[in-house]
Amino acid sequence: MTQYTLKQASSLLQSKQISAVELANEYLAAIAEKNPALNGYITIDQDKTLAEARAADERIAQGNASALTGVPVAYKDIFCQTGWRSACASKMLDNFISPYTATVVQNLLDEGMVTLGRTNMDEFAMGSTNETSFYGATKNPWNLEHVPGGSSGGSAAVVAARLAPAALGSDTGGSIRQPASHCGITGIKPTYGTVSRFGMVAYASSFDQAGPMAQTAEDCAILLNAMAGFDPKDSTSLESEKEDYTRDLNQPLKGVKIGLPKEYFGEGNSTDVQTALQNTIDLLKAQGAELVEVSLPQTKLSIPAYYVLTSAEASTNLSRYDGVRYGHRAAQFGDLEEMYGKTRAEGFGSEVKRRIMIGTYVLSHGYYDAYYLKAQKLRRLVADDFQTAFARCDLILAPTAPTAAPKIGADSSPVETYLSDIYTIAVNLAGLPALTLPAGFSGGGLPIGVQLIGNYFSEARILGAAHQIQLNSDWHQKTCK
Ligand code: GLN
Repeated sequence: MTQYTLKQASSLLQSKQISAVELANEYLAAIAEKNPALNGYITIDQDKTLAEARAADERIAQGNASALTGVPVAYKDIFCQTGWRSACASKMLDNFISPYTATVVQNLLDEGMVTLGRTNMDEFAMGSTNETSFYGATKNPWNLEHVPGGSSGGSAAVVAARLAPAALGSDTGGSIRQPASHCGITGIKPTYGTVSRFGMVAYASSFDQAGPMAQTAEDCAILLNAMAGFDPKDSTSLESEKEDYTRDLNQPLKGVKIGLPKEYFGEGNSTDVQTALQNTIDLLKAQGAELVEVSLPQTKLSIPAYYVLTSAEASTNLSRYDGVRYGHRAAQFGDLEEMYGKTRAEGFGSEVKRRIMIGTYVLSHGYYDAYYLKAQKLRRLVADDFQTAFARCDLILAPTAPTAAPKIGADSSPVETYLSDIYTIAVNLAGLPALTLPAGFSGGGLPIGVQLIGNYFSEARILGAAHQIQLNSDWHQKTCK
């Protein structure tokens, strides 16, 4: 039960072997059984889900269904959705029922997809473990003592636990790819501007990008087709031709040049990660891909640049949570100043506060040039590195994270956690597309993913290469108990 890929669910619905209501009920029953231990979903509303499923069945009966009509999907709590609590896993928005719907969610609702619920995440998408959520940590379904990764850890966990055929995540610095790696699923962060940010709670606006998370690259391609497109409500949305992201799925790997960045294959990776990379390299070679060494020498600069810039943008974006317009407001205060102070002290968790303080500092007079402006310059250097590399290869193979998922509560400092983002954030600094797919397991039985990074607008090619790998391997088919 509920083992379906998105594609399988779609064909069962289209051939009328199952109705949307039956399918939704199967998932709701599985969620009721397994979610309490997992904490992957933080909001479930059976009535709303079943109402959407009934509407999907009507559409199917009327003969005007799309391939996605009736297929269930889960949304990271970062996406606003009319009538649903959209809290971004923060106490600040715990009482916020959204009066409007994010464009990307609307696109899927227009297809007739059925909302299963809203998934847990790090508060305001700041984190790599899901432990900063106001609603408590999500557990890794492969081993409940471990984190699922973050910040889209809830989305990754529910797909891995087969409590949704697919989910949406968002990726500012790796938050789709890293939890996909830790949970053994596939997820893609598209080129910046491909998917609308309207209605997706802002963390660092020049980085944030939504993307699909599912069992397979093929499912991600199908979902991305429905998600992407120009949106006049997002000023950074790209005005480009409608793409078909499934178009390269059947392109063989023969002759495709895969770059291996020498800086990414060093000692920092656990042996399990090295093995997963080697598994992929062997498979690529067997399929006739050509492997070339490339260099991304500025990689080490990406962590300081990323944390300066994203904190700066976060400090600005989060200034709207002031207790006046919406969200939490302190119960007792003297004057306005105190109301602001108490509201924000109570409403935000410590990681969010840390970033607001860093961001305010680097933007302040006297430090702007030394930190913020400098980080902007580093951002350009990091992006230029990729262009040099892509002159020599079509796609880049890289680790997603240096290790498998750590234990919940593993006593790491914030800086240590930031350092674990080393392989994902350069992609966001550059605005490039990148995908994680499963490529092996750790000695302890936890999944390990690897990344395929492409040049701007090469999503179809990335998804095609990942699909070819998945046709010739079975890591993505392994399921946890
Ligand atoms: N770990 C990164 C951070 O905390 C990634 C966040 C993200 O992609 N949303 O900023």
